[in-house]
Amino acid sequence: MLPYSTQLIEEDDIAAVVEVLKSSHLTQGAKVEEFEEALARYVGARYCITFNSATSALHAAYASAGIGKNDEIITTPISFVATSNMAIAVGAVPIFCDVKMDGNIDETLIETLITPRTKAIVPVDFAGKPVAVGAINAIAKKHGLLVIEDASHALGSDINGQKIGSFADMTIFSFHAIKPITTGEGGAVVTDNEELAQKLRLFRSHGIVKKELWTSDMVSLGYNFRITEFAAALGLSQLNKLDRFINVRENIARYYDEYFENNNLLSTIPIDPTYQSARHLYPLLLTPELHCVKEDIFSELHNRGLGVQVHYKPIYQNSFYTERFGALRLNNAELFYRSELSIPCHQKMSLFDAENVTNTVLEVLNTYAHRGSGF
Ligand SMILES: *Cc1c(COP(=O)(O)O)cnc(C)c1O
Repeated sequence: MLPYSTQLIEEDDIAAVVEVLKSSHLTQGAKVEEFEEALARYVGARYCITFNSATSALHAAYASAGIGKNDEIITTPISFVATSNMAIAVGAVPIFCDVKMDGNIDETLIETLITPRTKAIVPVDFAGKPVAVGAINAIAKKHGLLVIEDASHALGSDINGQKIGSFADMTIFSFHAIKPITTGEGGAVVTDNEELAQKLRLFRSHGIVKKELWTSDMVSLGYNFRITEFAAALGLSQLNKLDRFINVRENIARYYDEYFENNNLLSTIPIDPTYQSARHLYPLLLTPELHCVKEDIFSELHNRGLGVQVHYKPIYQNSFYTERFGALRLNNAELFYRSELSIPCHQKMSLFDAENVTNTVLEVLNTYAHRGSGF
C-alpha cells in the first residue's frame, strides 16, 4: 500500500538516536535545547518550546494565552479534532468559521463571529498551504485578539520566503510520524513573546521554577509534556532534511497539478506562486457527480494499493460536539468534506510512483463516472 503520507527515516537519523541512547541524558539535556534553537532559527521566531505532541502544545498555548472558562476561540472545522479539543480542555468554546474551497478558514467571515468573549483566532494551514495571515493578523489587531496558528501541516511553508511560524502570536507544529518531519510523537510552539514562552515552559514541566541547584518552586499548575533527548536528536536530524523532503513533495505535487489540469472529474488546489506549501497533503476535489460514489472510489483505490484518505470530517459533526454544542452545518465545510480525497504525496515516493498514482486514480474515477451516468 502506498500511503497518503509516511515518514522517511535514514541511517543518519538512526545513528543520531542511538548516540543519545548511549549518552548520560535521556531527557532534559542539551539535545532538546539544540532542537528548539534550530527550529526557532529555521522558522524565524525568537522562542521555541517543544512538547510531546502538537496536542499538548495546543493545550499549553491556549492555557498560556489565559484562555479559559466561557472564552471563545474562532477556528476552522476542517482540521484534526485536537485543534478545537484543546480549547475545550481549558474550558473555552470553539466557534467554527466556514472555509474556502482550499480548505483554509474564510478570513472574510471571521469578523462576523467575534463576540465580547472571543480571545483568539485559530487558523490551520490546511495541507500546508498558508492561510491569509495578513488579513487574519489585521482582524486580530483591530479587535485585540491573539492569533494561535495550528501549523501542524505547515513546517517549512512560507509566504514570499517568510516562514510560517513568524506571523502569529503562537504557532504550533506537529512531529507525529506522518507530518512534515517526525520525532515519532512530538510538537512545538514558536513565539516571539518572552512572557508566553516562559508560561509555555512552566506548563510543559510541572510549573516548577529552578531557583538554585538545591531548591525549586512550583509557581503554577503544570504537566509533564516534555519530549525525550532521543526524540529531539531525531528531530534535529530530520530538520536538516526538511527542505529536501519539501522539494520531493513539491515535485510530486507539480506533476499532479499538471496531470490533473482541466480534468472534468476533479479539481486541484492552486498555490499562489509567491507561497511555498510544505505539501503535507495533496488534496483532490471530486466533482459533485462523484460524491455519491466516493466511498466506492475510496475502497477501490485501497484495493489497488493506494492508501488515500479523507481530510477532514468537519469537527462539529463528531458526536461529542453535536451532543455538547448542538448541530451545525457550514456550507463550504460540508462541500469540501464531500469532495476531498488526499492522494499519496510524501518524501519516500518517486515520480514513477506518482505516475502510477495518477493512472490508477483516473482509471478508477472514469469507471465510476460512467457507472454514475450510465443508469
Ligand atoms: C496532526 C495534527 C494535530 C495533532 O498533532 P499530534 O502531534 O498528533 O498531537 C493537530 N492539528 C492538526 C491540524 C494536525 O494535523
